[in-house]
Amino acid sequence: MFLKKEIVEILKSNNNDILKKADEIRKKYVGDEVHLRGLIEFSNICKCHCKYCGLRCANKTLERYRIEKDDILKYAKKAVDMGYKTIVLQSGEDDFYSIDYMCEIISEIKKLPVALTLSVGEKTFEEYKAYKQAGADRYLLRIETTDEKLYAKMHPYASYKNRIKCLENLKELGYEVGTGCLVGLEGQSIESLADDILFFKSIDADMVGIGPFIANPNTPLKNCPNGSFELALKVMALTRILLKNINIPATTAMETLNPNGRIIALQSGANVVMPNVTSIEYRKKYELYPNKICINENPDKCRGCIESKILSIGRKISTDMGFRQK
Ligand code: SAH
Ligand code: SF4
Repeated sequence: MFLKKEIVEILKSNNNDILKKADEIRKKYVGDEVHLRGLIEFSNICKCHCKYCGLRCANKTLERYRIEKDDILKYAKKAVDMGYKTIVLQSGEDDFYSIDYMCEIISEIKKLPVALTLSVGEKTFEEYKAYKQAGADRYLLRIETTDEKLYAKMHPYASYKNRIKCLENLKELGYEVGTGCLVGLEGQSIESLADDILFFKSIDADMVGIGPFIANPNTPLKNCPNGSFELALKVMALTRILLKNINIPATTAMETLNPNGRIIALQSGANVVMPNVTSIEYRKKYELYPNKICINENPDKCRGCIESKILSIGRKISTDMGFRQK
């Protein structure tokens, strides 16, 4: 077990031995299989103001879209036919999707059958409960940063306490809970990144997604430097070393900063990849940050491309739903 001081030292040093160590721990606890999750970004409409994100409501340059139930189901079905065992439904915080409407979508997808992850932001206990009862298995909600002052600066009108409450509610309701952080926000200290890792451990997160911050020209952070790929990789590796058997995605943001980012991440502790399964017309518009990868690829090509890369490093594609191995 690492102390905060040791984590800080590792993050500050130029020594990258932990990447290899994380790869060994990954192999020992979750094996060589890589879980592919089919990602459906179903709405880019968002009422929030997260300063780093291109979907923030004040960004008037973005052309907005919503995919409705029938089309969501069409993409989900196609993904299942392609072999995906998990569907991830992600969107901005878009109140168009009422509880009942979401529950209809969830229960229809669950009939395919397939594991289902939601990533639709902060909701009430009742909403999370209804989604769970409708069949949702997992939920992704990054804490983004555990530095409360930085959190407040990055999230106007939002509350850190509510974010924590949401994560607690999700755990209580029996979801597999995913969280994570951004690496490289202006004003973020190495010490706070160590706190982020210890936070993942303290809530016993089932999944942790770590992504470097990438400056979006249509946000208030447009002049901030991008986060560091190497530092994000180290935060991810330490998370693997501390939490051992959890699921960790090789994130799209990593590949945006490094052309081989996801494969490097898979060799430094990650065991999950989340290819997009929607059409090109939507991918371009789901612009959290610029230069997102694969925005000109169709779903079949995307899967084939990542699959062959995974096989080329001696790993296998999992054929099960990929729940956390306890
Ligand atoms: N609205 C949902 C899901 C969509 S956003 C939510 O916020 O949970 C998904 C993730 O994208 C966020 O958690 C955030 O960490 C990441 N993200 C947003 N803007 C980003 C940027 N500029 N650089 C890197 N990651 C970003
Ligand atoms: Fe909306 Fe999520 Fe972007 Fe925040 S990070 S603005 S909640 S889409």
